[in-house]
Amino acid sequence: MMKDAAQTLPMKDRFDLPEGMIYLDGNSLGPLPRAVPDHLARVVADEWGGHLIKGWNVDGWMAQPMRVGDKVARLIGAPDGSVTMGDTLSIKVYQALSAALQMRSDRKVILSDSGNFPTDLYMAQGLIAHQDARHELRVVAPEDVVEAITDDVAVVMLTQVDYRTGRMHDMADITRRAHDAGAIMLWDLAHSAGAVPVDLAGCGCEMAVGCTYKYLNGGPGAPAFIYVRPDLVGRIDPALSGWLGHDAPFAFEPDYRPAPDIARMRVGTPPVLQMSALEAALDVWDGIDMQDVRDRSIALSELFIAEVEARCPDLTLASPRDVARRGSQVSFAFAQGYAAMQALIAHDVIGDFRAPDIMRFGFTPLYIDEGDVVRAVDILADVMNDRLWDRPEYQRKSAVT
Ligand SMILES: *Cc1c(COP(=O)(O)O)cnc(C)c1O
Repeated sequence: MMKDAAQTLPMKDRFDLPEGMIYLDGNSLGPLPRAVPDHLARVVADEWGGHLIKGWNVDGWMAQPMRVGDKVARLIGAPDGSVTMGDTLSIKVYQALSAALQMRSDRKVILSDSGNFPTDLYMAQGLIAHQDARHELRVVAPEDVVEAITDDVAVVMLTQVDYRTGRMHDMADITRRAHDAGAIMLWDLAHSAGAVPVDLAGCGCEMAVGCTYKYLNGGPGAPAFIYVRPDLVGRIDPALSGWLGHDAPFAFEPDYRPAPDIARMRVGTPPVLQMSALEAALDVWDGIDMQDVRDRSIALSELFIAEVEARCPDLTLASPRDVARRGSQVSFAFAQGYAAMQALIAHDVIGDFRAPDIMRFGFTPLYIDEGDVVRAVDILADVMNDRLWDRPEYQRKSAVT
């Protein structure tokens, strides 16, 4: 990154955050970048409203998944033309896994860990239920992954940063071990993209997937991304062989023939409005060095841990203490964590809760600074030390925690 183009963090003025709110949940749903509403309004009024069906050509809607894919690629160390966008992360997991099983058809094991997000495991279960009966999803504890990479494993499927605890796998090391055992490596970057520096090209993994509504601030339901190592993409025979992954969608041929490149991982019509919000949201990253983001994230997380441990003795750190093994979130365990989080949210400090007892706080240096961290802990200390969580209004469960 050129020095003179470098942005200094935080850049709060690029986001529309409610006055008075301290938002420590950008790991779950990023806030609204200020550029998005006008851009989206223009796409709706001028492109959809004004151009109607011509928009697919004149406004570049059809090329958008690849154009936006290149913007995401730059944040995860992937070359241009190796990432495409669409669907949800669950779908992208399915596509990547099915491709991996096809590439290692002599092997029958999908290896994952118990820290993975449930949908990744569910998609694997659904996929193998439709394969021959000999396939197996093998789930081990995160610390046992390395030993479990045996030579019957077809694909190692891991989420780099654990959604509950923030524990972070060593991508380079595990990828090397997977390759030594002859397995395909599939990384889920849901809690990595926009949070920690990722070097997909350097680590050499075959595939990666992720979502864009967390640290990439694309908005609720923003499309997912999928990366396939460029030398391998031509070998994938897509399980979801939709028309927009076809080599010539508008030839309307009766038989499927995949596009030569990553476009074969597209499925159907792209969500143009949602992708336009994401496209504008990604401009925030121009001139930002992911190592700066990482350094700031570590400083904020370390400050938070020190302050909480000094002032809230009932909370127990549930994240790794070693910064090298932690992503951009910090979790504390507390038996009444749900109610404590509700009390905190009522006082405008937004984190979230993951069963059974995890209070989760995301650190997003684009719009969070040290002052926010200290103020958040002031309020958390009040919630804990005045037992505000004990009030009945904070005990009621909502559908989304
Ligand atoms: C957030 C997250 C998902 C969500 O999947 P969607 O299909 O986008 O709902 C999946 N996997 C991981 C690891 C996640 O963190």
